[in-house]
Amino acid sequence: MAYINGSWIESKSRLEVLNPATNEIIDTVPVVGKAETIAAIESAREAFKSWKKTTFSERVDYLVKAASILREQREELAELITKENGKPLRDSRSEVDSGIAYIDWYAEEAKRIYGDVLPAADQNKHLLVIREPVGVCAAITPWNFPFSMITRKIAPALATGCTMVLKPASATPLSAIKVFECFDKAGVPKGVINLVIGSAQEIGNAMTQSEEVRKITFTGSTAVGKLLLRDSADTVKAVSMELGGHAPFIIFDDANIDFVIEGVLNTKFTNSGQTCVSTNRIYVQKNIAEEFSKTLASRVSKLKIGNGLDESVDVGPIIDLKSYEKIMDQIKDAKEKNAKILCGGKPYDNKTDGKFIEPTIITDANEEMLISSEETFGPVVPIFTFETEDEIIEKVNHRYYGLAGYCYTSDLGRAFRVSGELEYGMVGVNDSSPFVVHAPFGGIKESGLGQEGGKYGLEGYLITKYISINTKY
Ligand code: ADP
Repeated sequence: MAYINGSWIESKSRLEVLNPATNEIIDTVPVVGKAETIAAIESAREAFKSWKKTTFSERVDYLVKAASILREQREELAELITKENGKPLRDSRSEVDSGIAYIDWYAEEAKRIYGDVLPAADQNKHLLVIREPVGVCAAITPWNFPFSMITRKIAPALATGCTMVLKPASATPLSAIKVFECFDKAGVPKGVINLVIGSAQEIGNAMTQSEEVRKITFTGSTAVGKLLLRDSADTVKAVSMELGGHAPFIIFDDANIDFVIEGVLNTKFTNSGQTCVSTNRIYVQKNIAEEFSKTLASRVSKLKIGNGLDESVDVGPIIDLKSYEKIMDQIKDAKEKNAKILCGGKPYDNKTDGKFIEPTIITDANEEMLISSEETFGPVVPIFTFETEDEIIEKVNHRYYGLAGYCYTSDLGRAFRVSGELEYGMVGVNDSSPFVVHAPFGGIKESGLGQEGGKYGLEGYLITKYISINTKY
């Protein structure tokens, strides 16, 4: 399916969209390829000529209208997300709210794109530093937040005066279509935002090879991020990359254990563990490890697994067979390396063709296990133990991932010391939900480049231009 230059494009070949809870086809959408992507880029380039000249208040009006139309469809959107992604309805609702909050926030922030006036080096000169939109942006988004990852890119692009061509994940194109329908209803001029659905490689190549595309913004795996970075080098595009993670969750013995358990449940099982900021390793101080592990396992074994459309479900299906096999391989590997399965550890039979895995807690974990270094993206977590602060600081940083990390302690000095040592772009101290629209979201090391969210999220869509005006000529 494509939305190019304000029109919806049909095509003969169609993509089947599956509900991961049942493996049933819920819809089919037309797919497009290289030619349509080039046409979409061309329409974004043409639209940029006038869009970049609009005043901020004109652009704000469109953002406000689009947010209001999306808000009216909150429940419908949440259901659509659950159907194509599988996550429980409550997680989908929260995604819709945060996705719309990005549009609200950037509608405000569009007013605050400031430049500088520098002191003149010569009395006849005026030195200006201005910020301008980078130009045509290409966006590629993932299936795990099929709605909010789109609005988080479109909103700052529109706020700054950029135009965009977006490719959503093939597993979850329906939320993307809905977003574009709502922006279309809001009257966003033709060509300003364009949607292309189809082969990732074909569309991705057309985007990276285009000289007209001045920026690539990508959320997805580190492997694909690296590929896009390489392919963007020839035309020296601006890049923003939100890539994989391997979040540690550190628990000191002075932490409030009930509060810790809530934090672990939130960071590990929200979206069925399929987020880049999901806890991937728990480190608990040895003297409380046994009690903590037992309490956690007793809570985890009560989580309800099933189709996310059932309001009482806590943990939904795994997105597809490939992801399911990767997670099951990590469990198998841990068992072979002498780990104990405290709860879960097996596929869950939901009497459908969907792929489910029981929420799983692994103890006696060690660094040789795949799960200690490879991203899991599922409802499974290993517990490691440590004795001292120095020891955990030594162990906790990942060789190449650096997205999110969590630390629970009631010692203020330790909170500052440990968060200072964590080599992660985002740190939650006694906080399992640090992610808010006005804060920067992004990783370091191989977890990403640049940030989304807040005033930081505007940066990637702006260029800096310096103008020196000589008044004596
Ligand atoms: P995940 O493992 O979460 O599916 P991916 O990085 O594979 O993460 O996918 C994220 C997005 O990147 C999706 O929209 C997917 O279609 C897209 N993608 C995958 N491979 C490529 C590629 N070679 N070029 C461009 N985009 C790609």
